[in-house]
Amino acid sequence: MSAMESAMRRTMRKLLVATHNAGKVREYRHLLADLPLEVTWLDAEGIAFDVEETGASFAENAVQKATTYAAATGLWTWADDSGLEVDALGGAPGIRSSRYAGPEASDADRNHKLLRELADVPWEQRTARFRCVVAIATPEGDVRTASGCCEGIIAYEPRGSHGFGFDPVFFMPQFGCTMAELSPEVKNRVSHRAQAAQAARKLLRELLEAIGQDAGEAS
Ligand code: IMP
Repeated sequence: MSAMESAMRRTMRKLLVATHNAGKVREYRHLLADLPLEVTWLDAEGIAFDVEETGASFAENAVQKATTYAAATGLWTWADDSGLEVDALGGAPGIRSSRYAGPEASDADRNHKLLRELADVPWEQRTARFRCVVAIATPEGDVRTASGCCEGIIAYEPRGSHGFGFDPVFFMPQFGCTMAELSPEVKNRVSHRAQAAQAARKLLRELLEAIGQDAGEAS
């Protein structure tokens, strides 16, 4: 890092990404690289407490996380919440996606449970979507949300080894394969999380402009 870059970094506003997942931070850092923000995360800031997700929607959970950490740290905070909605299950597992099949269950357990529950459901009724909401909160109480959504069909059996979670059973008609068969580069361009993050980037730009910081080219 040059002397100029490190001087700029010292004066840059910090953005806290409310996660313990280093992979998520890497992705968001990449996405926000051109903004005058120093992207940090819970582990780097030594923040050990977790915010319980008690909201009734992805948006409520994301807002709850972002506002709690922003108030506790005095930092602008970025928090996300995501999950899978299956129409034949009335929108389940939804906000309970990570707990579907119990607290100790693995991704494979959750996928098997989902396929079992849909065993008698025909193809045209297996429609589903991944949703993601990103909330950005300031310690002063400004909070904004952005969302992304990816439509698909629950396959009859798991396929593919990329990604995580429900990716192997999420068939995407426009690609003719499951989300776990997409390369990470393609998934990171089209996923619900990528869409929400792109929209949230615009919100950050607005916040930066509101405090008189040049946020560069619009995109
Ligand atoms: P979180 O918002 O990162 O906590 O994700 C909640 C849960 O939703 C995960 O544990 C997965 O079960 C599911 N999920 C969210 N995003 C994805 C995805 O991109 N692929 C597969 N599963 C996902």
